[in-house]
Amino acid sequence: MIKNKVIDNVVNMIKDHPESVEANKKAVAYIAEYYPIGRIIVEIHVNVSLLPFDSDASYYNLLDSDNVSEAGEYIVDMPLQDCGRIVSRIFPTKDAGEFTEEQKSDIHIIATMFHFYTGQYKIMSSLKRATMSNYMSGLYNPKGYIIKCIEISHRYNIHDYDSCYFNIKGFGLANNIFGSHEGDNIIKRYAKDLNNFINDDEVVGHLGGDNFVALIRRTRMDDFLDYLLNYTGYGIKNGKQKEVKLSVAIGISPLSREDVKPNDIISEASLALSYARQTKQDIVVLNDELKNKLYHRKQIEETFDKAMEHGEFVPFYQPKVDIRSGKLVGAEALSRWIRNGNLISPAEFIPVLEQNGSITDLDFYIFEETCKNLARWEKDGIELVPISVNFSRKHLDDDNLADRINQIITRHGIDKKYIVAEITETVDYDEKELMTKFLEKMQLYKIKTSIDDFGTGYSSLGVLRDFEINEIKVDRSFINRPKFLDSDRIIVGSIVNMAKQLNLDIITEGVENKEQVDFLNSLECYYVQGFLFDKPLPKDEFEKRLKIGGYDLAIKEL
Ligand code: C2E
Ligand code: MG
Ligand code: MG
Repeated sequence: MIKNKVIDNVVNMIKDHPESVEANKKAVAYIAEYYPIGRIIVEIHVNVSLLPFDSDASYYNLLDSDNVSEAGEYIVDMPLQDCGRIVSRIFPTKDAGEFTEEQKSDIHIIATMFHFYTGQYKIMSSLKRATMSNYMSGLYNPKGYIIKCIEISHRYNIHDYDSCYFNIKGFGLANNIFGSHEGDNIIKRYAKDLNNFINDDEVVGHLGGDNFVALIRRTRMDDFLDYLLNYTGYGIKNGKQKEVKLSVAIGISPLSREDVKPNDIISEASLALSYARQTKQDIVVLNDELKNKLYHRKQIEETFDKAMEHGEFVPFYQPKVDIRSGKLVGAEALSRWIRNGNLISPAEFIPVLEQNGSITDLDFYIFEETCKNLARWEKDGIELVPISVNFSRKHLDDDNLADRINQIITRHGIDKKYIVAEITETVDYDEKELMTKFLEKMQLYKIKTSIDDFGTGYSSLGVLRDFEINEIKVDRSFINRPKFLDSDRIIVGSIVNMAKQLNLDIITEGVENKEQVDFLNSLECYYVQGFLFDKPLPKDEFEKRLKIGGYDLAIKEL
């Protein structure tokens, strides 16, 4: 009789608040009035495969007193299907020594009730947390992170927060040094430290690998960045602890605008991070200006294929001139995108196409168009000049680049002396190897090559030594000076001399005024390209120039 009453009362005490320690303790104290119990330890074993971290069992004492008989322990062990087990260890008081069989039977029923309510609740919350956590670090996974962000947005003003997406820089190196197992430990410690850094009204998540997200109060962002950019952890190698500095690249999206949607929280910060990576910056904040720019980029990427199909890209030709005579000595093909009657300049689309690799298609298109034009002009009896076509360094991965260029020239039946391939110099070691091979092949095919924007890289002199080229194109920054100083004369003068001694053609781009022409004339650098003579011209305009063959220097007041 007692048993039923006690069970009913215990159930009533805990069923509505299985999570409440108070309710549990009160229920236990109540049981202890009827049974000689000195201590109750509850162990919750959640199946490890369901849990993140190395969590195994959680233990808690529901009742603990000095009056305990260690010998008379009674165990109630309850399996919870695939989720794990709950074990209660119940000790009698010293005075009782051990439980009677009848007491054991009652205690078994009561413990089972406890397990049913409290244990189940604990397991469910562990599992719930597990489905929301990253398996390795225990931080929130994307799903948990978003849920937590939504919770925060309900409780606080989301506009006061910045959303961050960050990636540990060069973590591969730490993995190489310490091995992947210790690499995981480093990440776990990092995750733990991040979790300690944030406040209760903030959240940090782990998306996997070395990618993390965080929702941080804007007022704490400076501190957070300081923490992330100067973090020092440690790894263990050969039993010794070694310092590991882990910096990050981070994208930040301030959630200050009105219509923040849960999905934007991660995606916009991620957008900022990918921009940070592309532009090799550590910190990028997604402001309106950047958002527009990225939107614009996306549009370019999305419309590129169709624009190619519809022939929206066209080559313009900018004349190259000999400043001694005004004679037209060549031209450069520069692409223009004509979209709904508007002219889009390469500055807008080339960097986007460089990044997604489509530039290689555009280059070949411009090259083919140029070959076609040359073939037609020749057929029409117009005297040709060599035309340079730009080839992005993105082509260098293609071993057959030189072969393809050669085939196209041959297919259009053009004399090779009318083609020059322009490519910019590089500082990247691997690229240099590829470039050397490409340039050597071009020499074998007897197709001229030119180094564009010469002097803007850091390897310019090395370029002259290492690469087999025919021409250097001096960057406009060398002549874009308010006034020429002796140092300009010495620098450009020595470039010109070196080029001459190495038997290379030399041309200067960006010539806009008489002072620049005089300066170049005095250094015996006679070939120029620039607005002073002409901007890049549409094909038909350029054809007229070709027919005339040059410029009247007197009209240009030269
Ligand atoms: P670039 O190859 O160095 O071409 C020279 C750029 O300088 C052209 O800009 C030209 O319009 C500009 N320019 C020429 N004379 C003057 C001048 O006197 N003053 C000033 N301020 N600028 C002058 P554009 O046409 O806007 O092209 C920019 C860059 O885009 C080119 O620089 C080239 O790197 C790239 N580009 C253009 N078309 C293509 C293409 O079909 N393929 C590839 N891979 N790149 C291209
Ligand atoms: Mg060029
Ligand atoms: Mg250039």
